[in-house]
Amino acid sequence: MEIDFSKSAHGLIPAIIQDSETKNVLMLGYMNAEAYQKTVETGKVTFYSRSKQRLWTKGEESGNFLNLVDIKNDCDGDTLLIQAQPVGPTCHTGADTCWQTPNDESYGFISKLENTIESRIKNADSEKSYVASLFKLGINKIIQKVGEEAVEVVIEAKDTNDDLFLGESADLFFHYLILLQAKGFKLDDVVSILKSRQK
Ligand code: AMP
Ligand code: ZN
Ligand code: ZN
Ligand code: ZN
Repeated sequence: MEIDFSKSAHGLIPAIIQDSETKNVLMLGYMNAEAYQKTVETGKVTFYSRSKQRLWTKGEESGNFLNLVDIKNDCDGDTLLIQAQPVGPTCHTGADTCWQTPNDESYGFISKLENTIESRIKNADSEKSYVASLFKLGINKIIQKVGEEAVEVVIEAKDTNDDLFLGESADLFFHYLILLQAKGFKLDDVVSILKSRQK
């Protein structure tokens, strides 16, 4: 089946990009005949960007290219399925795929702890909750606690008592999670930044 670029008004057809190894769907872009040709010639997935209104080789600025592995045309020739190997994260948000919102990532026990902190903050009247009572004292108190715990970590790090060092590390991490939550963030927002810095 020949690729039919004439079906859509601007000669653009959708190209679904799939990781050839993990099989994850990474992103969707549009190709015209020129973009398709450039993709085949260079081995780097190239779209026609509707916003840029020009050919756009994915990764041209970020270096996060999509190295072409295979192109398949669909049953009626109007949609491409492209297998590729991503050099880095495919989404400009730093996520591996364009459908992975930053909060999709799960960190096991830490994610559960974050959810517990969130529900304690939402039910801030629960008298027995340390998190709720701390939250009621206001953001400045939470900021201060993080500062205190950080200093305690520093002090214990200079000592030789591993238990004290680890205990203060847990205190710091716990209060840091509360601070992130109080400011409307989650650990994954920080991890996303770390990932995007990794080249
Ligand atoms: P890149 O092609 O990765 O160098 O990114 C160049 C620009 O293209 C970014 O600044 C974004 O505006 C846009 N962009 C990058 N990746 C995507 C994507 N997966 N989906 C939509 N736009 C993107
Ligand atoms: Zn089709
Ligand atoms: Zn994206
Ligand atoms: Zn402490």
